Amino acid sequence: MQKGSINVQTENIFPIIKKFLYSDHDIFLRELVSNAVDATQKLLLLSKKGELKGDLGSTQIEVSLDSKAKTLTISDKGIGMTAEEIDNYINQIAFSSAEEFIEKFKGMDDKAQIIGHFGLGFYSAFMVADNVEIVTKSYKDAPASKWSCDGSPNYELEESDKKDRGTDIILHINEESIEFLEEAKIRSLLNKYCKFLPIPIKFGEESAEVATGEKDKDGKEIMETQTKDAIINNTSPAWIKSPSNLSDEDYLNFYRELYPMSEDPMFWIHLNVDFPFKLTGILYFPKLKKTYEVQKNKIGLYSNQVFVTDNVENIVPEFLTMLHGVIDSPDIPLNVSRSYLQSDSNVKKITGHVSKKVSDKLVDLFKKDRQSFEEKWESLGVFVKYGMLSDEKFFDRTKGACLLENTTNELKTIEEYTEKIKALQTDKDGKLVHVYTNDVEGQDAYISSAKAKSYDVLKMDALIDNHFMQHLEMKNPDSVFKRVDSDTMDKLIEKDEKLESVLNEKEEEKLKKVFEDTIGDTNVSVELKALSPDDMPVLITQSEWLRRMKEMQQLGSGMPFMGDMPGGLNLVVNTNHKIAGKILKGGKKKKEEIQHLYDLALLGQGMLKGKKLTDFIQRSVKELA
Ligand code: ADP
Repeated sequence: MQKGSINVQTENIFPIIKKFLYSDHDIFLRELVSNAVDATQKLLLLSKKGELKGDLGSTQIEVSLDSKAKTLTISDKGIGMTAEEIDNYINQIAFSSAEEFIEKFKGMDDKAQIIGHFGLGFYSAFMVADNVEIVTKSYKDAPASKWSCDGSPNYELEESDKKDRGTDIILHINEESIEFLEEAKIRSLLNKYCKFLPIPIKFGEESAEVATGEKDKDGKEIMETQTKDAIINNTSPAWIKSPSNLSDEDYLNFYRELYPMSEDPMFWIHLNVDFPFKLTGILYFPKLKKTYEVQKNKIGLYSNQVFVTDNVENIVPEFLTMLHGVIDSPDIPLNVSRSYLQSDSNVKKITGHVSKKVSDKLVDLFKKDRQSFEEKWESLGVFVKYGMLSDEKFFDRTKGACLLENTTNELKTIEEYTEKIKALQTDKDGKLVHVYTNDVEGQDAYISSAKAKSYDVLKMDALIDNHFMQHLEMKNPDSVFKRVDSDTMDKLIEKDEKLESVLNEKEEEKLKKVFEDTIGDTNVSVELKALSPDDMPVLITQSEWLRRMKEMQQLGSGMPFMGDMPGGLNLVVNTNHKIAGKILKGGKKKKEEIQHLYDLALLGQGMLKGKKLTDFIQRSVKELA
């Protein structure tokens, strides 16, 4: 028997591994199963190249638990190791770079990234085990070996009587880690990390009722319980297949496999890149609702079919996290921390590429089948706008397929829309005025009034629209957005022509005063305007700017709190409406009439509520009685 000391040139490696390197103990299983997969794939490759003759037999990997012995075993039938290989690959951990490792480790706070760099995957077993054994027989003609180590830098290596090719890694689970002796725990870990590994992995058995083909005396089929190996993984997930071999149904089935409880997606992109980096994957576009909380963490990041993370926030651009699916690239480092992933140049290239693919797909869909694109716009819109807001390149690539919807559900591209409104809705400074509503029902009176002037009204009622409009204004300073009830209502689109007021200056002053006195609210300023006699007699308007500020504050967009901002409400009195004249002449019911008009204006904005609304109704009923 050979005894020795693991050559890491320090006594301290195990405490480091145990306590610091992995904050996430779960991943030991991923490491060991990945090693088993690697060893099996190497064997299959040798066989394929003809360097290994004969029948390979089963190459299934098995994970098994022994609760009495308190062991967890990972067995493979891969290439195995000779004693010499154990010496090279296991005893001299990261043998070429051990010194470098210790050197670098000293100043490093980001410990998790070390593992991947120095190939310490196997040693992660010591996070959960006091004692680890390797029983292995190489495919080469050499005696089998048994290696064991109790977590100190000392190991034992001896010959073993293992007959068949492959490696068993036996973990004697330590007291603090007994959860890893629970079947459910191991099953969930396998399901998370190993679900799409390319070699079948057996964990336990499953039984099924199978028809025997014989019938009993009542003519009923005789059933028999059969057990078979329970394979936990799908060894050829859709994303590694060629798109030409996949039907829509295949894509949908894979989606259902990933997210069993979800509604089917709208469409998908199959990613397949060879150069300048390798990347495969499928991204699905889920159906999104305007108000719906977007579900993130639905993209799984894989490296050679090994699951890395589903927390892709800050790794892929945020708007892409609305998509679902899988991105797999061997260039995604396995054992590194999130902050490392974020700054990894491969990961950056990947996300740039994915963002481009996504916009290409959208533009392509738009060009090829506009009708279907329009039908999906309700879901797509949120995504496209989000993308255009957060990624400059995505903005430029996708803007041609970004649609604006008006209140009659007409969808136009930004360019088409400009064409549509430019004749009537360009103001005297040459600015293109986009009139919009964010509440079709609530702002009905204003919409009607805008439409009466032949203006087109856009529907901008998604949460993201406020930001999106601002972004468009910033991108194109010749475009402005004005809500139908903004305080420039009478001149939403300011032209040179102006209506004359039928009242003279004195009369206007008097009218203004009586309105102010009756309403008696300093938050409401009364403004006289010469509108068309057909317009409403009074209107509540709000400053576009002030309203946006308030809305942003409510959304908690990091704006400094501005105290209680003044209400910013205007009561616009149309001096050309015949009611204005009537009030000016003044009957004894003047005050009631003003109050009633004011309430009506509030009502038109959906602002009349509570006691004020009750009073209004009672007053109105009295009038009628
Ligand atoms: P890495 O896998 O990153 O190289 P590990 O510490 O996990 O680092 O493994 C070190 C080496 O030990 C592997 O490169 C491989 O040569 C060998 N090895 C580990 N597990 C097995 C196994 N199940 N079968 C054969 N060889 C293995």
